[in-house]
Amino acid sequence: MQPLRVYSVVPKLPPRLKPLWELAYNLWYSWNNEIAELFAQVDQKLWRECELNPVAFLNRLPQRTLENLATDQFFLDRLTELRRNLETYLSKATISIPFPEGENKEPVIAYFSLEYGISKGLPIYSGGLGILAGDHLKSASDLSLPLVAIGIAYQQGYFRQYLTPDGWQQERYPVYDFEQMPMTPCLDADGKRLLISVDLKGDRVFAQVWRVAVGRISLYLLDTNIQENQPQFKQITTRLYGGNLEMRLWQEILLGIGGIKTLDALGFKPKVIHMNEGHSAFAGLERIRRFMENAGLTFEAAAELVASSSIFTTHTPVPAGNDRFPPDLMQPYFEDYARKLGLAWKVFLALGREDPRNDAEPFCMTVLALRLSRINNGVSILHGFVSRNMWKRVWPQYPVEDVPIGAVTNGVHVPTWVAPDLALLFDRYMGPNWREDPDCPRVFEQTEAISDAELWRTHERLRERLIDFVRRRLHDQLLARGAKRKELQIAEEVLDPQALTIGFARRFATYKRATLLLSDQERLVKLISDSSRPLQFIFAGKAHPHDNEGKKLIQQLVQLCETAECRYSMVFLEDYDMEIASYMYHGCDVWMNTPRRPLEACGTSGMKAMCNGVLNFSTLDGWWAEAWKPDNSLGWAIGLGEEYEDVQYQDFVESQMLYNALENEIVPTFYERGHGNLPRGWIRKMKESLKTLGPVFTSHRMVEDYARVAYGPAIENYNRLVKAEFAAAKDLAQWRMEMMTKWSSLNVRNVQATDPGQVFVGEPIVVTAEISLNGIRPQDVRVEVYSGPVDYEGKFTQRETTIMQPSDSTQDGWQVFRGEVMPVEAGRFGFTVRILPHHPLLLDSHSLGLIKWAEQG
Ligand SMILES: *Cc1c(COP(=O)(O)O)cnc(C)c1O
Repeated sequence: MQPLRVYSVVPKLPPRLKPLWELAYNLWYSWNNEIAELFAQVDQKLWRECELNPVAFLNRLPQRTLENLATDQFFLDRLTELRRNLETYLSKATISIPFPEGENKEPVIAYFSLEYGISKGLPIYSGGLGILAGDHLKSASDLSLPLVAIGIAYQQGYFRQYLTPDGWQQERYPVYDFEQMPMTPCLDADGKRLLISVDLKGDRVFAQVWRVAVGRISLYLLDTNIQENQPQFKQITTRLYGGNLEMRLWQEILLGIGGIKTLDALGFKPKVIHMNEGHSAFAGLERIRRFMENAGLTFEAAAELVASSSIFTTHTPVPAGNDRFPPDLMQPYFEDYARKLGLAWKVFLALGREDPRNDAEPFCMTVLALRLSRINNGVSILHGFVSRNMWKRVWPQYPVEDVPIGAVTNGVHVPTWVAPDLALLFDRYMGPNWREDPDCPRVFEQTEAISDAELWRTHERLRERLIDFVRRRLHDQLLARGAKRKELQIAEEVLDPQALTIGFARRFATYKRATLLLSDQERLVKLISDSSRPLQFIFAGKAHPHDNEGKKLIQQLVQLCETAECRYSMVFLEDYDMEIASYMYHGCDVWMNTPRRPLEACGTSGMKAMCNGVLNFSTLDGWWAEAWKPDNSLGWAIGLGEEYEDVQYQDFVESQMLYNALENEIVPTFYERGHGNLPRGWIRKMKESLKTLGPVFTSHRMVEDYARVAYGPAIENYNRLVKAEFAAAKDLAQWRMEMMTKWSSLNVRNVQATDPGQVFVGEPIVVTAEISLNGIRPQDVRVEVYSGPVDYEGKFTQRETTIMQPSDSTQDGWQVFRGEVMPVEAGRFGFTVRILPHHPLLLDSHSLGLIKWAEQG
């Protein structure tokens, strides 16, 4: 039996408490702890039961509590003050970083991600990618960047983890009630719920749009679980990373194509889009289709415009993170669409293929994104390098260092992740600037001024709080598992609040090697049972529901944690999420990470630990490869960044290094206590790490980098291309076609260098070459000397390019170009000459895939 009608019943709200709801509906509370504290102080138990979701919390408060609060003057004063803070924050309107003039009125940047981790109370994230997206929005808000974001409202979020008594991961999927979450439905002009639709194999699928306020930023979430849809389509937004490949395709069509339609329906006219992972790459196609339809552009001109105003960030080198769809799966969904774009089916498929001629290749979303965007990047310097290698087949003629994928290293939103106690200390010593301007080195210089004792006491208090939290959680999880009284008693006594505490929490993907620590259990047990210098571990993390290898790692770890030797000093917490993570970042002494280089694209958990004065101990992968210093003054490394062919051997070697570092460096430094029982050496490192890394690995710095190298240039390019009825976009497309047809007739001959007999460091070599342009204008090309040191095989080990200038005279169609190169160090040195297409509106000469190298002989 189903009811005829359903209502949402909400408490009767005393008018004076209305500001509470305003605070609850802006996720600003997730980085303004006073607000979260205000909620918690009303009813700690209920706050926890509602999983830190303020809307559910307020709606469940008993009417009597509400009425009491409405007469509590202290509470009301505090509420007024916090609401005023929010208002002040929201009214700030100037962009505080360099940005194109006049672009601060409307959101000009649309950010796309399949997941967002903003707060525990809005569980639409799985891990690093989502939390990074959340931190991006928070910094964009703090910096007043004109950005709007698109995502999906998952009815069941990602899964919730619990363990069977023998340590096997089980998944549970609570159903979330969006009416009870900090999101509001968007309405159309008639005041009805706004719906957008996408086409799936001829079926129309509708999505309702929800708005989430993240400070000044709006995040719009799509939701297909509505009565207008057939049952199978309601499932599209049920689970993050659930379902099969076809479900993933549906989700990506919804995010990309549906996302662009949503922006349009809401009246936004973003100039640039930022695609995170290939998941949203269909957004590029949909933009092209719209420019063709609305402005009458050809596919080529529209594609030129879209690519010039798109940014693509790849976030992982792990193959499973790069979706590939078989052409047979794609065909029913995109054959018509290809026709609308004026593309033959094979040409369409080529957009997603590394080798456009290879019919056997699946359609890869990362390749599509790379082809539809002129500004591409990885998420750390090392990952930029890895990505250029990984995707070099998309630009087959280029040396790998010219593959147009750069790097913007990730950062974390410091005000979100710093413990409130430590934040007070920062306020006192650095001033409130550290929240607003955490990438200013001057601000973090002030960490030096913090008293050693004060910093250490604060840190110790946070460790104690972590241990309290672990005991409570462990108790609850054992109880849920049906544990006996005696086991429950153990839970109350695990871990020592004074002991050196190492945290390890992350997804249990095999490349993260969670069990590296277990490879010599005897040595491990010896370390944790040293009663004068005890060491203890806290673990947490989920394995993907289909990843049995990952689940085995969890089981192995959990079973060890439960042995008699380890049960007091090694704990595995179930259901890793932002809350567990926060306690761990706040209260551990060491953050350990053991990825197999180079598979960790960046890794952000270590940064969150770092901004709490926690020291990192990690393989030199991702961000740590660029952050660590060889003198260990900022934390420790496992190995020196070696990569191995034999992974078992690698695991062996690196596990030995891991134990060595723990035994010889980390434990002794921690327990070397001086006056007042302070570990001065350790505190020195905490401060060094905060001071040096604090201003760098923040999302403010990251968002500023994106604004400078990506958003700004892309917006300016967009403005130039659309002017005068898209004149420049049309010109550029025309020019590109011309280059494509004429390019093969270019020739280089007679490359010469002045031969001084001997070449000295710092003395220029003059290079000349004869070029036959065959109808291409000299300004359409850039002729370059490509030079640098070469190795014993005659390959360039580094390279530099110098532009060659044309001479006035031509002879039989051959024109002499001339340039100079300067060898900067002694050794073998080589050069060659190449030609690239050049156009003032082309963001990147490499994007056409055209190049001509001087040939031997
Ligand atoms: C930061 C964070 C991650 C990502 O951390 P990695 O270092 O990339 O593994 C995952 N989950 C949570 C809850 C986080 O806070």
